[in-house]
Amino acid sequence: SEKEKKWMEGVIKEEQITRYLENGRDFIDDEEIWEKLRKNQNPDKQRIREIIQKSLEIETLEPDETAALLNVKDPELWQEIFDAAAKIKKKVYDSRIVTFAPLYCSNLCVNNCVYCGFRRENTVIKRRRLTLEEVRREAEVLAGEIGHKRLIAVYGEHPTTDAKYIADTIRTIYEVKVKTKNGYGQIRRVNVNAAPMSIEELEMLRDVGIGTYQVFQETYHHETYKKLHPEGTIKSHYQWRLYCHHRALEAGVDDVALGVLFGLYDWRFEVMGLLYHARNLEKFFGIGPHTISFPRLEPAANTPFAQESKYKVSDEDFKKLIAVIRLSVPYTGMILTAREPAHLRDEILSMGIVTQTDASTKIGIGAYSDRYTEQEAERQQFLLGDTRSLDELIRELAKMGYITSFCTAGYRCGRTGKHIMTLLKTGREAVFCKLNAVLTFREWLDDFASEETKIAGEQVIQKEIEEIKERVPAEVFSKLMEYYRRIQNGERDLYF
Ligand code: SAM
Ligand code: SF4
Repeated sequence: SEKEKKWMEGVIKEEQITRYLENGRDFIDDEEIWEKLRKNQNPDKQRIREIIQKSLEIETLEPDETAALLNVKDPELWQEIFDAAAKIKKKVYDSRIVTFAPLYCSNLCVNNCVYCGFRRENTVIKRRRLTLEEVRREAEVLAGEIGHKRLIAVYGEHPTTDAKYIADTIRTIYEVKVKTKNGYGQIRRVNVNAAPMSIEELEMLRDVGIGTYQVFQETYHHETYKKLHPEGTIKSHYQWRLYCHHRALEAGVDDVALGVLFGLYDWRFEVMGLLYHARNLEKFFGIGPHTISFPRLEPAANTPFAQESKYKVSDEDFKKLIAVIRLSVPYTGMILTAREPAHLRDEILSMGIVTQTDASTKIGIGAYSDRYTEQEAERQQFLLGDTRSLDELIRELAKMGYITSFCTAGYRCGRTGKHIMTLLKTGREAVFCKLNAVLTFREWLDDFASEETKIAGEQVIQKEIEEIKERVPAEVFSKLMEYYRRIQNGERDLYF
């Protein structure tokens, strides 16, 4: 409609991009990336080992170094890369995994991304925007029945789901408080995956307490980007998207998240793009991405491109790219999603490289409170590979020796942005996290765990408590145990 068109014309603020350009160009030079990948072919063992050493010291790699890792052929050397990736994760994040759930608030969208079920031309999709009352009901199921403490709220791009609507939904979610078996359930961190916004709009989200602002570039390759995001749509503006995290940081949103939709273009090129992006953020703001996501293209209703793309990434390459991202940006959180099938997700989680994953995932609009048990393509952006419950996933993780953390303290004590970067790089955040993981896992076990999961969970929590005892001063340990007992008696939300 005319109204929609007018709105679209006002979205992009060119002046909020130009200040970051150098000689009118952005920081992704397609030719330069290919040149680096060519120049660093057949790297020798010694060089790769030196690069691994640098990553182990939690230093961001240079583009030439990442390019060398991406060119490794020798399977034994790959094993060394996988081992180092696990060591880095352990050093920075210890043995915890953070879980969350996506909450799709709307699938109305003005864009036409060829790979996405929500693209405007796709007439088979049932379109809906949740009312605030419906958002509240979704959050009540997530917080009161499943036991999530973190959500990522997801939105299409549309005038009816602008920054004001997004801010209202975040506020609504934070207001939810549901009585549980032994205490109460609450969402304590709302991250957002939405379209690029202006600084002023991002300030609105900062003011309602947004957690992380997540936007995936989809592909860093300019020409491919242009092909997959048809002209005339807002999303076709590559640089408006590329610099949205810069604008968020300018707006005072402390945590920003990057990602690529793997399967749109060459995966090695895209890993290089992520590295350049992280380095550019570090250059301007002194901090890099809070997390990096690496979704792979999944089938979607009436969306042939999702099946036909010639750049689909195999499982073997997928594991490699995850390890190279870990080594390239060693301090970053890494998110593996329920797009992946259960067996592969378990395999990747057991490699000990990623830090976050979702569970009890439903991506149909309104699907949590509607209690849909089957996936329904017409309501979804794409089809999920793994719909296991949070209870099942936590049990699997416990068997692998991981503690599930529901900690959201970092954000609420100001351990974000620059401050957290220092803590992460020095391994100090791992200790805070370990304490808070124990406390929040105790809450979850008491409120939501099945008997079977409780058994596996108790073993992990005891092991963690013993490790903590060895690592922290006696007064910290006794405070931990005091909090622990208070939680067992029904208090909630005690943290370091
Ligand atoms: N509309 C916003 C945008 O495009 O930034 C919000 C996010 S969209 C609902 C979330 C992400 O889903 C996209 O950034 C894209 O990477 C991913 N996505 C889209 N189509 C997909 C597909 N067929 N399979 C897997 N992921 C997909
Ligand atoms: Fe809309 Fe985002 Fe899907 Fe593109 S990826 S069609 S912008 S919902």
